[in-house]
Amino acid sequence: MKEKGIHLIFLGPPGGGKGTQARMIMEKINAIQISTGDILRQAVKDATPLGKTAKSFMDKGELVPDDLIIDLIKEKLSSPDFPSNWIMDGFPRTEKQAQYFDKLLKDINLSLTAVIEISVPDQILIERLTGRRVCKCGETYHIIYNKPKVEGKCNKCGNEIYQRSDDSEKVVKDRLMVYYKQTVPLIDYYQKQGLLKKVDGTQDINKVFNDILSIINY
Ligand code: AMP
Repeated sequence: MKEKGIHLIFLGPPGGGKGTQARMIMEKINAIQISTGDILRQAVKDATPLGKTAKSFMDKGELVPDDLIIDLIKEKLSSPDFPSNWIMDGFPRTEKQAQYFDKLLKDINLSLTAVIEISVPDQILIERLTGRRVCKCGETYHIIYNKPKVEGKCNKCGNEIYQRSDDSEKVVKDRLMVYYKQTVPLIDYYQKQGLLKKVDGTQDINKVFNDILSIINY
């Protein structure tokens, strides 16, 4: 029998909607969303040692070294008040991270419920990412498809929205290349474990959300 809890990995290209869906699912199933990208951006902002090292990789659209990410996840998961439902958003991103994660989960007697691949073609991703605007509260917008009610201000908290520095066209293209080279092999990796479920990320946000809920039988 599986242990209690829902344990998900959201896999997909940058701009595929992992973060948006993770936030929606998190509210619905009362889970925690672990976004390694958000954790790293916060570390950069706080100028911690992790942030200082991570910044140079992130600015170029490259992946932060596996060892740093692995330490970060290990620390999160070993916290005694870590909740039973969780969604990994943006982790794992390399085979080394995935192998390590399998081992870590085994050691603490947990297993994955599903790995959800949200797929979106490149052309749409570039348009989505270069037009994306974000708020520090986690909300995201798009200059054409999802404008805030008041220009430049977050609907939720009223703070100024801005463009992530790695959402420029040049860096977006580099991030996509990195995704294909380093993260796409994970699709096969989890397929072999019978965990992979594919969702069409070009659909309406609510349709994607409902597809994910039905995958997890919720
Ligand atoms: P994201 O917000 O998920 O698109 O992540 C932004 C950036 O943070 C990426 O381009 C990487 O530089 C870094 N990053 C986030 N998650 C990881 C990860 N699991 N492994 C390595 N680098 C990561």
